[in-house]
Amino acid sequence: MSSKLCAVAIDGPSGAGKSTIARAVAARCGFVYVDTGAIYRTVGLAVRRAGADPHDASAVGPLLPGLDIRFDYGSDGQQRMKLNGEDVSEAIRTPEGSMYASAVATLPVVRAYLLDMQRDMAKTHSVVMDGRDIGTVVLPDAGLKIFLTASAEARAKRRLLELNAKGDGSTFDDVLADMIRRDAQDSNRAAAPLKAADDAVTVDTSDMTLEESIEHVCALVRERFGIA
Ligand code: C5P
Repeated sequence: MSSKLCAVAIDGPSGAGKSTIARAVAARCGFVYVDTGAIYRTVGLAVRRAGADPHDASAVGPLLPGLDIRFDYGSDGQQRMKLNGEDVSEAIRTPEGSMYASAVATLPVVRAYLLDMQRDMAKTHSVVMDGRDIGTVVLPDAGLKIFLTASAEARAKRRLLELNAKGDGSTFDDVLADMIRRDAQDSNRAAAPLKAADDAVTVDTSDMTLEESIEHVCALVRERFGIA
């Protein structure tokens, strides 16, 4: 049965459009979309609420066994994150939440703790999974690996629109600075750094509209898996 399952790994820096594109591609291809960044964000939120230093493995590690982190899918197909039974899907989407997620994601103890949760989904479902290390670590045998990227300016512009739409008053300069800082932390960490898998197809969306990006990735999926 598992030989019929398809796995698409999409990695890339923040703001490249991974989650929007991955969600749309999954819907069009009938796969399940797994947003692994949301899982790291949920750990980050738990660490923030506990008042622990997110860079300190000796403070974060002991918290992990006490966390009940789950995700499920609402009737709208959206992935919802639960932390100890509370729906935190919105609470994790703040600029501070991004920095906490990126900080805890540097810790090997956190990455090891979350590995099976991510892999288990791909054992039972065809997935489009996005993150930073999906093609390199989580699903090294994925049938299609995509490294989705765009210039820092294009990514910051898109992220600013999202934040402003939610009433967050960040400026372009704030967002660009946060993005550059987070990219550096994600790319330079020792544990599972952000990088393209050797066999990944790189897609640069700087000059593509959202619909063009989605269609481009869908075409790669159809071609790779022989889907009509
Ligand atoms: O994708 P998103 O911006 O929601 O991810 C938040 C943070 O979680 C990233 O900056 C990254 O540090 C971390 N992350 C990761 N590995 C993944 C997914 C996210 O390290 N597979």
